[in-house]
Amino acid sequence: MKPRFGGTRAAPSQPGNAQPASRNESISNRDENHRHFPRPPNTSSAARRLHCDIVVGTRPEAIKLGPVIIALRAKPSDFAVRLITSGQHREICYSALAAFGLIADEDLAVEVGSLLAHSAADVLRIFAAHLLHNRPDILLVQGDTTTAMAAALAAFYGQVPVAHVEAGLRSNDLANPFPEEANRTIIDAISTILLPPTPLAQRNLLRAGFQSERCPIVGNTVVDALQLLCAAHPPTLAGTGIEEMDLRARRLILVTTHRRESWGFDLETICTAIRTIANNRPDVVVVLPVHPNPNVKAIVTDRLGGHPRIKLVPPLGYLQFLSLMRRAFLILTDSGGIQEEAPSLGVPLLVLRKITERPEAAQAGLARVIGTNTAAILDHAFELLDKQDVYRRMATAGNPYGDGRASERIVEILRNWKAGRALLAKERSFQPRIEGLEENALESKCVTRPTGQPHGSDQDN
Ligand code: UDP
Repeated sequence: MKPRFGGTRAAPSQPGNAQPASRNESISNRDENHRHFPRPPNTSSAARRLHCDIVVGTRPEAIKLGPVIIALRAKPSDFAVRLITSGQHREICYSALAAFGLIADEDLAVEVGSLLAHSAADVLRIFAAHLLHNRPDILLVQGDTTTAMAAALAAFYGQVPVAHVEAGLRSNDLANPFPEEANRTIIDAISTILLPPTPLAQRNLLRAGFQSERCPIVGNTVVDALQLLCAAHPPTLAGTGIEEMDLRARRLILVTTHRRESWGFDLETICTAIRTIANNRPDVVVVLPVHPNPNVKAIVTDRLGGHPRIKLVPPLGYLQFLSLMRRAFLILTDSGGIQEEAPSLGVPLLVLRKITERPEAAQAGLARVIGTNTAAILDHAFELLDKQDVYRRMATAGNPYGDGRASERIVEILRNWKAGRALLAKERSFQPRIEGLEENALESKCVTRPTGQPHGSDQDN
């Protein structure tokens, strides 16, 4: 098999890098680390289509790559797209793909064990065989999952270029979120094309020594997904397990919590806060789709089950969950994707994490990173329930994450890469129009405030 690129010998006069040959020698030492910059396919015929393999393993990958797949498939003369699922979270991943009318072309059926290392090893092994057999021109991966990391690594070993959608996110804490922070850093390091969603994500990459030409800011594709699906589907409670009468004259608080870092004590403190909110505010109904992981399900059903105004429902299809997000007064979550979705829908958000790699919403005043302490959750939730002016300021829609054109930019970037042109003109990149966002101190860490106020009883009423 002919290698596509020459390891550390690869001259970086590649598309996107767009360096004139004379500048090659002046590449900074920092960039020495990033010379794995494979060439696009040798396109002797301009008519040759770019063969893109796109891998998804989990629900967020399906949601965030759905609009990209649709945009690429809308240009059949330029791209041949193969959608591959790993099987990491098969059912909910397939259900999310179905929201976009997509089905997998191939399912690699990896064995998902309880050990991360086993799942990663299986994706690596099976995906390596897939790539050897199929030789796509480029592999697209999204985010920070085990599937994305191991598939990217298999491509790197097989010298297939990788494009990383949602590159550059950093919490700078390998334990939070675990193992995603390590996964995304590894994928960035071995990718040919990096697609940061926001200026901050790009800045993280520049700080790590990547050249800006190689990592154009595209916006987050989740905003494309929301726009696409909201336009096609009016909100409905059908299939959510919630009746219209449950919500009549009541404010909906939507909660999701499943992060590995919260299992155990933190999940219990979150549940105590949720129950106390429901007990003390009769005009509130809490809806919580319960994650199937036994570490989550056991505590959540034990602490929150049986309350008349806390509705525990199974994981919802994306269209159903989106409907609830659109109806929500307030969202509490530790999810990554929902941190981008809630501000995009203009719904105030409390982030149940100690640290976030998506601080833009907090910087823009649309979200607060509040951790998992019961008193802190109550403090922030009651303030938003009780103070209209505070609520209104947070609900002001303005989107730091995207403008709904990320997929269009990714199509343009891949086309330019194939043609050997610069990846994306700066004026075409995504720039959030939110005042003060850039200047704000990074609020990626949890804001703790003195509470001091009584929060009422956590006894059921
Ligand atoms: N989501 C969904 N159904 C649910 C809960 C969440 O479709 O019952 C969606 C949610 O809107 C978001 C994505 O799933 O787009 C987030 O997935 P998850 O929280 O599993 O992963 P993370 O975003 O933390 O990586």
